[in-house]
Amino acid sequence: LFTVYKKNRRILHLAYLDELTGLPNLRNFQAHLEELRCQHLALVVLNPLNFKLINILYGYEHGNNVLMQIAAYLRNVSRQTENLRPFRLSDDRFLLIIKNEPSLERLLTLCKEFLNINDEPGICGSIAISIGLVQSTGPSHDATRLLKEALIALNSTSAAHPIQAYNTELEEKLIRVDAIEQEIKQALGGEDGIISLVFQPIYDGDVGQIVSFEALARMNSKKLGVIHPLEFIAIAEKRQLIIALGQKILSLACDFITQLRMRGIYEVSVAVNVSALQLMEDSFISHIVNLSKEKQIPLTQLEVELTESVFAQDLQFIATQLEELRALGILVAIDDFGTGYSSLSRLENLPIDYLKLDRSFVEKLQNSGEHGFVSDIISLAHHIDKLVIAEGVETEEQEEELQKLGCDYMQGYLYSRPVPAEQALDLLLAAENNDEQP
Ligand code: C2E
Ligand code: MG
Ligand code: MG
Repeated sequence: LFTVYKKNRRILHLAYLDELTGLPNLRNFQAHLEELRCQHLALVVLNPLNFKLINILYGYEHGNNVLMQIAAYLRNVSRQTENLRPFRLSDDRFLLIIKNEPSLERLLTLCKEFLNINDEPGICGSIAISIGLVQSTGPSHDATRLLKEALIALNSTSAAHPIQAYNTELEEKLIRVDAIEQEIKQALGGEDGIISLVFQPIYDGDVGQIVSFEALARMNSKKLGVIHPLEFIAIAEKRQLIIALGQKILSLACDFITQLRMRGIYEVSVAVNVSALQLMEDSFISHIVNLSKEKQIPLTQLEVELTESVFAQDLQFIATQLEELRALGILVAIDDFGTGYSSLSRLENLPIDYLKLDRSFVEKLQNSGEHGFVSDIISLAHHIDKLVIAEGVETEEQEEELQKLGCDYMQGYLYSRPVPAEQALDLLLAAENNDEQP
C-alpha cells in the first residue's frame, strides 16, 4: 500500500507541480482558478526579459538556477502575503493569482515591488522583469480568458513601461497589428492592390521644373482601409518584413523609372525612402544592383532618402554603404532634417547630397522675416556642399521666403500632393507645356 501511495504521490506531483521550481504548474492554476471564480481576482504574469540571453551567455544550468531563485522569491512573497499564490506558467513565465484586492492602484504598487527582484540576494545576472496584469470582472471571466488578457498586457510592455494592466484597446491594437502584418505578407506573396506607390514632385526652386519625384508607399487594407505609411512601415520593421517590403517598394519605384524612360524622360529621378534596417542589411547594395539589371534602368535615376535615425546605427558601416550607393550613381538625401540627432558637423564627412528640411521648420516661415533656424541650416548646408530640399511647402509666402534664403528645391502641397504614376507623368507634361509657353 505504501509503495502504491508513494507512486501515486509522485504521479500527482508531476501532474500538478513544476518539476524544476516545485511551484504549482499551469494545470494546477486552471483548477485553482475555477474554484475561485466568484471572488475578486487579479492575475499577474511575470517574465524576465533577457532570459534567453542569460541561457546563451551563462548556460542552461545557470538559467535554471535563476528560475529557481525567482520561484523562491515568489514563494517567499506568497508566505508574507496571504492572498497571493504563485505558479510557473511555462519556460520563463510565472503567474500570480491575487485574491481580494479590488484596487488597481495597490496592485500596481505590488507589481512595482516585483521589479526589484534584481536586488534580491542570490539572483545573479541582471534580470529585467516585465509584468502583465489583469483584474477579473466577474464569474464569467474564466481562466483561459484571464490568462489571455494577462499575456496581451505582457505583450504590450516595453523597457520604458515594464508594467502594463490589460485594457480592451491593447487587444484591439494587437488584432489590428496582426491584420496589417498578414496583409503585408499577402502583398509580398504577390497579391496586387494592397501596397502601391504614389509620387510627389520636387521642383527646382529657381526655374520651377520638376527635378525628381519622391516615391511614397501606400497601403490599402482589405479589412481596415487606408493605413498610414508610418504605421505599416513600423509594423513591417517590428515583424521582420521590412527587407522584403523595402525590396517590393524599390521594385515598384524602378517600374516608375521605366515608365519615365519610355516617355523619353531621362533626367528626372525617383527618390525612395529607405529604412535604417534596410540600409544595415549586407545585401542591400547587391539587391539594388540586381534590380537595375533586371529592370534595365540606370541607377543614376534612383535616389535614396534616409531619416536621421540611421545615424544611431554603426556609423562606419553606414558610411561604407552610402559610399557604395554613391559609387553606383545613387544620390542620397537625409530626410526630415532638423528633427533627429545628426549634426551638420557629423554630416560633413558623410557621403550625402541633400538635406531635406523638415516640414516643421517650413511651417513657421512667414513674410515677417522670422526664419528660425532655416536661414542658418541652408547656409551651413551650402557651406559643406549639400543641397537643400524644403519639405511641406504649402503657401506662396513660404515659397517666396525659401527662394529668398537660397533653398535649392521645393516639395509640398503648394505644387502637388503625392499622386499615382499616371497623374505624376501628366504633371511632367504640364510642366513641359508651361515651359514652352512664352
Ligand atoms: P517623408 O519621407 O518625410 O515624406 C513626406 C511626407 O510629407 C509624406 O507623407 C507626404 O505626403 C507629406 N507631405 C508632402 N508635402 C506636404 C505638405 O505640403 N504638407 C503636409 N502636411 N504634408 C506633406 P506620407 O506619404 O504620409 O509619408 C509619411 C512618412 O512615411 C514619410 O515621411 C516616410 O518617413 C514614411 N514612408 C512613406 N513611404 C515610405 C517607404 O516607401 N519606405 C519607408 N521606409 N518609409 C516610408
Ligand atoms: Mg522622404
Ligand atoms: Mg520628410
